[in-house]
Amino acid sequence: MSKNIVVAIDGYSSCGKSTLAKALAKKLHYIYVDSGAMYRAVALYFLRNNIDTKNSEQIEEALKNIHLNFHSRDYETHITLNDEEVSEEIRQMPVSEKVSEVSALKAVRREMVKQQQRMGKSKSIVMDGRDIGTAVFPNADLKIFMTADPAVRAKRRYDEIHPKNPDVTLAEIYENIAHRDYQDTTRAESPLVRAHDAIILDNTDLTPEQQLKFALDRVEGLHR
Ligand code: C5P
Repeated sequence: MSKNIVVAIDGYSSCGKSTLAKALAKKLHYIYVDSGAMYRAVALYFLRNNIDTKNSEQIEEALKNIHLNFHSRDYETHITLNDEEVSEEIRQMPVSEKVSEVSALKAVRREMVKQQQRMGKSKSIVMDGRDIGTAVFPNADLKIFMTADPAVRAKRRYDEIHPKNPDVTLAEIYENIAHRDYQDTTRAESPLVRAHDAIILDNTDLTPEQQLKFALDRVEGLHR
């Protein structure tokens, strides 16, 4: 039987990690896991239940009451929080503004990483996030670290969000991306950092097709 392959994709906010991860998983028939959706769903629970991020007892209690599940439909992320479909709600600004604070908590990371490692046990997988190549799968077969010009990232995210949320502004999105990058790279627990063996992919001037080819070539290289 051939070995399960693990592809870890990390990088800054709104770099197109999930676009690449999805396309790659679809092409290769691997499982796709959007680890950011898990942190977003936890942040949503914290918002709804007014969990104090400075109160460790409340955090532990909340984590016991949070049950996340992925339902993959054509490689789109569908996630449930305690059996409620929250895939749309976790993309809204209130969650985007809260998530980096929640994902910086040690207890939250410990629980998410445990669940993510379990998902990579039995099948070939592509997972995207911030600490996949460093903390979740340090032995991943292929690690890609994505980056792109912040203005280009903000514009792409704006084009994606604006049709559904006409009130959102480009400036607001730019600020949120910059803020999350700052929080994610400076936090004490598993900060966003390029794993020493990760390949850098700057997609500022690449189309989704070009970045997919870049990654597929690297996966093919694994079998040579
Ligand atoms: O990938 P996405 O932008 O949806 O992730 C939302 C947030 O979740 C990130 O800004 C980061 O704070 C957190 N995250 C993380 N570790 C991961 C994935 C996401 O800390 N592996």
